Amino acid sequence: MRASEIINVAKQAIQKYPLCDSCLGRLFGMMGYGLTNAERGRALKTILLMEAYDTALGEWNEELLKSLALSGFNAARLTLAKIGAEPIKEVECYICKNLVSKVNELATMCVEVGKEYEYSTFQVGCSIPHEIIEREESLWLNFRLERSESIKSELTREVGKQIQSLTGKFYSPDKPDLVFIIDAKTWKVVAEPRPVFIYGRYRKKVRGLPQSPWLYQPDSRISYNTSIEELITAPLIKLFGARDAKLHAAGREDLDVRTLGNGRPFVVEIVSPKVRSVDLGMAERLINDSAKGLVEVENLVYVDGKLVPKLKAFSEIARKKYVAKVKLGQPISDHALEELEAKFRNLLVSQRTPLRILRRKNDKVRKKIVYELKAKALGEREILLEITCQGGLYVKELIHGDQGRTRPNVAEVLGVNITVEELDILWIEEPEMVSDFILGLRPPVA
Ligand SMILES: [Zn+2]
Repeated sequence: MRASEIINVAKQAIQKYPLCDSCLGRLFGMMGYGLTNAERGRALKTILLMEAYDTALGEWNEELLKSLALSGFNAARLTLAKIGAEPIKEVECYICKNLVSKVNELATMCVEVGKEYEYSTFQVGCSIPHEIIEREESLWLNFRLERSESIKSELTREVGKQIQSLTGKFYSPDKPDLVFIIDAKTWKVVAEPRPVFIYGRYRKKVRGLPQSPWLYQPDSRISYNTSIEELITAPLIKLFGARDAKLHAAGREDLDVRTLGNGRPFVVEIVSPKVRSVDLGMAERLINDSAKGLVEVENLVYVDGKLVPKLKAFSEIARKKYVAKVKLGQPISDHALEELEAKFRNLLVSQRTPLRILRRKNDKVRKKIVYELKAKALGEREILLEITCQGGLYVKELIHGDQGRTRPNVAEVLGVNITVEELDILWIEEPEMVSDFILGLRPPVA
């Protein structure tokens, strides 16, 4: 747009509608750099006033002077007084009804709401009354404007600048700690903190403890009125002043299986936290103290939330080592155990969905690898099996065969019936990619 064109459009606009400096300037918001819209608008009004009143000739355009005065341009009011015209009262801005002039008030409201939260970066969102947006867009159409900025974009930016100068915290559209959401219709502000994510590993030290709160019918195998999720998240919810917390674990163990050794990887998502920089060493001690030996966590670190889906995918393939105490239908020879170990070295096993979960899951065949199996006789009819295998393999079924649905299986190779008496997880592979997502013991301060 040429300068004469810009001035001409501004002139038509201001003669038709009283516009505050910002709303006039915003019509040309994409032009020029390093300017506020108020500066653009004021510059245009200044030029129009120069056109409207020529001191040397003593000529003026009273209509234009009145339009400028109506829009709140003080120099135009002074000029009208000088030529002895009727004084003109400023009216509300046609587009924003003076909303833009309340940037400071909105910023103060945000700062007030934000006092409840720990944050170092923030973002501002705003819902603008529909009528304002319609009026603004009708002007764009009328004057065929293609370089305008929206009021929403201006308002959120200007409120953001103001909050930044009031608090010293940083405006950041990329992963802010806190998002202020302004409702310009109801004149209310709410703050929504981004979740905090913590990675760690847990050991489940008892049988009969479910991973998540048990919502279904009573199960006789359940021995505790709590869950791994509750034991880990309850202390964290308190420490972070959070609304809620969710456990995202890398897989889950059966109710009657313990997870020992290095423990199971997990991420806790702290939802809507008021505090963001809890000392995780302290959090770890608090969880372990209050879990009273049922569960233990360790190596808690802050991580990026993007780890959650990766962790879930990883749990499908992560290697695991199990130990099982099993009872045999009849005695076997020592030689049989040696053959068993040789057979299950890097062996691909084919499993149909176990009968015990067939009601909940589709019947399909999955193929998983057994890397190593070690067998030790405990008594005439009792042996200990140590099995290292790919994630997602059903170990109980690998042992007893599940009526031939898992093949090959230990019972079949030994030629006896087998009952699994106890099963524990001894080791779960550490996902290598975790290190790419670690933020540290404290979340990073921008
Ligand atoms: Zn306005």
